Amino acid sequence: MIDNHIPHWGIPHREVIMSSEHALIVGAGAAGWSAADTLVRSGWPGPVTIVDPTGPTNRTLVNKGVLTGLLGREQLGRPIPAGTELLEDEVAAVQADGTVHLRSGDRVAPTAVVIATGSAPRRHSFSPDGDAGAERILPLHSIEDAERIRSLLPSSGGRVAVLGAGLIGSETASLLADSGVDVTLLARSPLPLRDQLGPTVASDLLRRHRDRIRIRTGRDVARAATRSDIVVVELSDGETVEADVAIVAHGTLARRPSVGAQTGALTVDARLRTGLRGVYAAGGVASILSHGTAVRVDHWEDAAAQGAHAARSILHDLLGAADPGEYRFESGFSARIHGGTLTAWGVATRATQWSRHDSDEAVGVGRHFGQVTAVAGIDAAGTVRSIVEAARRDLREPLHRYPIGV
Ligand SMILES: Cc1cc2nc3c(=O)[nH]c(=O)nc-3n(C[C@H](O)[C@H](O)[C@H](O)COP(=O)(O)OP(=O)(O)OC[C@H]3O[C@@H](n4cnc5c(N)ncnc54)[C@H](O)[C@@H]3O)c2cc1C
Repeated sequence: MIDNHIPHWGIPHREVIMSSEHALIVGAGAAGWSAADTLVRSGWPGPVTIVDPTGPTNRTLVNKGVLTGLLGREQLGRPIPAGTELLEDEVAAVQADGTVHLRSGDRVAPTAVVIATGSAPRRHSFSPDGDAGAERILPLHSIEDAERIRSLLPSSGGRVAVLGAGLIGSETASLLADSGVDVTLLARSPLPLRDQLGPTVASDLLRRHRDRIRIRTGRDVARAATRSDIVVVELSDGETVEADVAIVAHGTLARRPSVGAQTGALTVDARLRTGLRGVYAAGGVASILSHGTAVRVDHWEDAAAQGAHAARSILHDLLGAADPGEYRFESGFSARIHGGTLTAWGVATRATQWSRHDSDEAVGVGRHFGQVTAVAGIDAAGTVRSIVEAARRDLREPLHRYPIGV
């Protein structure tokens, strides 16, 4: 049913009545693509429409491909899943009754909706002094960000300050160093990535950074002054770092349309339901809640796994297919950093208890209540794989049964 409410952004609207069993996937990234593909492959009886202003894009190549100049923007696109259709539009809001409002002014009433709108970069907390060069302090999240950063660097390499030594900051620092850029990596934590990868692997990564680039740890950025052709970053201990560009790599926050009365990341249950009938969420936009703890993971494979899980929950809830059960964070990710290959699996938080694996390799094993929930290693993919296989065999309960989180 469609009501006659005028969308709050004031664009006159047209009404689109969907055929029955219409699935609408909001966002064509890792999670949305996979949700749409799973629905089609599982025999969803009606049309599957993906709404995205840009179409499917592989965001993981923004730094590895576009920033390095190895790939052009068109090479990050992906075809839409077979059997689906793409609507180049943006979703502005999903009402409590499931009605979806598009920026174009259209409104639709699908049977099922998966919100997979991903994330936005977390902003820096300092206010840059001076305005002429404010555009030299940039996030690295979109193709446009990567192209802008490239345009600000001289062909001889130039200097970059990377603010934040998480996975994207660390990988980007390494990629830039490979391209001949003079890199300074600035980290608030004394041991960056300790919570996510454990102290064994985090210490190995820190050593690799120290061998290859300039790194300052345990210090905040106090301010950044921009001039027309330079940015000067001042640390909390007074040290200054000059660069052509400062890349802000402070992690991500959920990016989303307005959905019912929810604010912040979209909280979903362990079957990825938002609480609005027929509306699900997956990927970087979603925070998965179980036993009082919300966990948000923003990695490609995990987003794709969440998208597929949301699709299976839809098939179960609306068509009576088998119950997919509670979602488990059992995906992996890898990165090349200063010549080493980081391989990791699962999910870790501050509450994870890490120990070094009993081998000569840099491998850490993270546990909750004795259950292995995260594994990380450098140049140790085989060992990580065998620990993961054993952990999967032992996994008696979904990870959500364990009180992950702070
Ligand atoms: C530079 C960089 C490098 C990365 N490298 C890695 C890596 O090596 N390994 C890894 O595991 N992860 C990596 N990631 C993280 C990974 O890209 C994300 O975790 C993953 O893309 C999340 O998938 P998603 O589907 O939730 O969001 P996205 O893939 O970001 O897709 C969201 C989609 O939603 C669309 N959208 C947004 N708002 C709306 C709206 N209102 N209406 C309609 N559509 C909308 C967007 O256009 C976009 O296409 C990287 C991220 C970045 C920024």
